[in-house]
Amino acid sequence: MGVVHVSNPATGEIIHSLQTSTKEEVTAKVDKAQLAFPSWKALTAYDRSKLLIAWAAMIRENRQELGELITLENGKPLAEALGEVDYAVSYIDWYAEEAKRIYGRTIPTHVPNKRLSVTRQPIGVVAAITPWNFPAAMMTRKAAPALAAGCTFIVKPAEETPLTTIRLIELAHRAGIPEDAVQYVLADAPMVGEIFTSHKAVRKITFTGSTAVGKLLLSQCAQTVKHATMELGGHAPIIVAEDANIAVAVEQTIIAKYRNAGQTCVSPNRLIVHENIAATFTEALVAKVKELKVGNGMEADVSVGPVINRKGFDKIQDQIQDALSKGADAAVGGGHNVDEEQGFYFVEPTVLTNVSADAKIMTEETFGPVIPIVTFKELDEAIAIANDSLYGLATYFFTESYKTGTYLSENLDYGIVGWNDGIISAAHAPFGGMKESGMGREGGTEGIEPYLETKYVSMSL
Ligand code: NAP
Repeated sequence: MGVVHVSNPATGEIIHSLQTSTKEEVTAKVDKAQLAFPSWKALTAYDRSKLLIAWAAMIRENRQELGELITLENGKPLAEALGEVDYAVSYIDWYAEEAKRIYGRTIPTHVPNKRLSVTRQPIGVVAAITPWNFPAAMMTRKAAPALAAGCTFIVKPAEETPLTTIRLIELAHRAGIPEDAVQYVLADAPMVGEIFTSHKAVRKITFTGSTAVGKLLLSQCAQTVKHATMELGGHAPIIVAEDANIAVAVEQTIIAKYRNAGQTCVSPNRLIVHENIAATFTEALVAKVKELKVGNGMEADVSVGPVINRKGFDKIQDQIQDALSKGADAAVGGGHNVDEEQGFYFVEPTVLTNVSADAKIMTEETFGPVIPIVTFKELDEAIAIANDSLYGLATYFFTESYKTGTYLSENLDYGIVGWNDGIISAAHAPFGGMKESGMGREGGTEGIEPYLETKYVSMSL
């Protein structure tokens, strides 16, 4: 048994210490989820829906406390953390309704005395592994459809941010969802991954995190042929066309790029700007970036919090230094405020210009408040740069022309497209990526499908 110390990334202060579980304890929790499955599945969709609605109400009652908890363990500004609580609840709202719309169908028969029907049933025990960047929303985006479908659910939150998950699960139990139907485990990540992927009762793994860990889990899932949803990394491009509304493009880039200090999977990581407007766009963007205040997310006027930890900071620094060494300029930012002894890492919001095509920042996921700008002449050149990535999660573009927009929309290899729009995620829309950004979708009508099995019944009269 070990201990996890949860610290505030804005100060380095330890805010809570928690005991981790042993292999036997984790396995016992999965066993409990298995035992709880038949009775949870047997509830009517209406009863499961009512319990989800009660959970959502509990979260709303405790919105402020949950928001503060997210800021304390993740570092994002409180206004953003409260926004995350609202976003997290919206998945519970949506799937409480979708529970009632899990329809089957009948198939016209080929012989007179047969009746063919298709029903949907819950897949079984669902095991989830979530990241630290959205400790509330990444959990509810999985738990809500799983529970709505009739599956029991067990989640391992990230070591940096377990407190929000634990609190959400306490609230679920207070709302009346049985204790064994929704559980968490806190334990060594590879060990939990091994148990989740090898336990025969677990029928589905749902993971949000890095592509490297996603690949590992996928390979482990093969042993027991588990279903898997993978929400992995991203390296979102933004194309700013010659006819873009520059004010809108700047405003939306700021929102999409600097929220959560750039630590989102859909964070724009490459600005691809038409050469005729690059100077005007860059000047306007830099002016807005200078207005961003970096600091402790609990302070009211702070818009950019710390990055999560030393590892994250080192990666960002490496990308900045690499780009600068290859001829880039920091049009704004480039600095940092770090105290290794205390354990906090703040990075100045940064815009890099004259970035070389072979700079690491052009191909590696960044996860920090830094963005490079490159220019293009022809639209196809911009599309080629944008698509030149292992990732295919989110992309954005800015254009006032429906022809340009339609062309971009149809030719960018990304699962999510923001057209003049930097805020693209919603509970009622499918979220997920192409290529190495993952498989499956969360949210929308698509988001409950992975938790359901299809059963076909052929009846002879
Ligand atoms: P990570 O290192 O992959 O960790 C994510 C989760 O996986 C954590 O709970 C972690 O546990 C666990 N984990 C690590 N190694 C594991 C192993 N060997 N077996 C099983 N679980 C393991 O990713 P991160 O740095 O926390 O999160 C950032 C990444 O998530 C980025 O790549 C980002 O793009 C991606 N992301 C994707 C989406 C999306 O929807 N596509 C959304 C948000 C984030 P510990 O914390 O205990 O190590």
